[in-house]
Amino acid sequence: MQQKSVYIAYTGGTLGMQRGPRGYRPEPGFLARQMDEMPVLRHPGMPRYVVHEYDPLLDSSNMTPRDWVKLADDIYSKYDEYDGFIVLHGTDTMAYSAAALSFMFNSLDKPIVFTGSQIPLVELRNDARENLITSLLIAAGGEVPEVCLFVGSRLLRGNRSTKTSAAHFRAFRSPNYPPLGDAGVELVIHHERLQPWPERPLTYARVGGAEVADIRFFPGMTPRVLEQFLAPPLQGAVLHTYGLGNAPDDPSILRPIRDACDRGVVIVNCTQCLEGSVNMTGYATGNALADAGVASGFDMTPEASLTKLYWLLSLELGAAEVRRQMGIDLRGEITPVSRA
Ligand code: ASP
Repeated sequence: MQQKSVYIAYTGGTLGMQRGPRGYRPEPGFLARQMDEMPVLRHPGMPRYVVHEYDPLLDSSNMTPRDWVKLADDIYSKYDEYDGFIVLHGTDTMAYSAAALSFMFNSLDKPIVFTGSQIPLVELRNDARENLITSLLIAAGGEVPEVCLFVGSRLLRGNRSTKTSAAHFRAFRSPNYPPLGDAGVELVIHHERLQPWPERPLTYARVGGAEVADIRFFPGMTPRVLEQFLAPPLQGAVLHTYGLGNAPDDPSILRPIRDACDRGVVIVNCTQCLEGSVNMTGYATGNALADAGVASGFDMTPEASLTKLYWLLSLELGAAEVRRQMGIDLRGEITPVSRA
């Protein structure tokens, strides 16, 4: 059988970092030298791979939507040449980048596996080695036609993932969708949980420069703070509400929200709870938001809600269509339920 080939887009992150006087930082050429010294990567069971090191290498805290586009453009331009793709990425904003790519690519028929680590490969004790090796096998395996994330023995859907631990190797959770795979004694892919194989060819649409905000309610939030967030030229906002999707139904809080919706700002309701779905019909406080024009984000992660909003706004579909598509399942990011 012909050896599979994997393209590794190395964007930065802890996995390839070196310790410096001010803490860990990425260092050009450092990861490639370490990988060259790993005999396991030349094992006959491993795919061939190419590492493309980005310039500059980034701590993912420095990433912006422009970096998502640079990465997606890179993968799109190599799509036909490789059996699968790995994105080596910092874990801090990995869930955002993975979700953003999941929207930009439609009808994927190859894996794009995001991975990184909490401890660099250079350290004696690390999670980098296992994450890298298993991601290579998953990317070469060709079984997962999705943007996914492999960290801490679990393969998760990219747009369902969220970073929940700054300390544990199992740094991510997928609170509202089960893992796509588990790497235990055996590497198991749960095929029944994967996105269906596409019936159409791949299409690609970039994220553009939309103006969005991420607003978290807290007890005592004043109308002035909300107004400042929602002021023009804002085009969209994710509103992090309480519980089932509730916020104060005080008219002074609802007014700036209603005014923004009337101006065509797309406001999406996303719960602050890690698990469960927004249902704005549950309480009067939720219903008031729906009446003001807020759309439900159902059980999407905050990362998926924000990147989906960015992406849909970039397509210039008009506010009503963006609002509609925010509530429907495009890439497995949302559990279809009766409308809230
Ligand atoms: N600050 C690092 C980053 O996100 C953390 C990591 O890679 O785990 O780039």
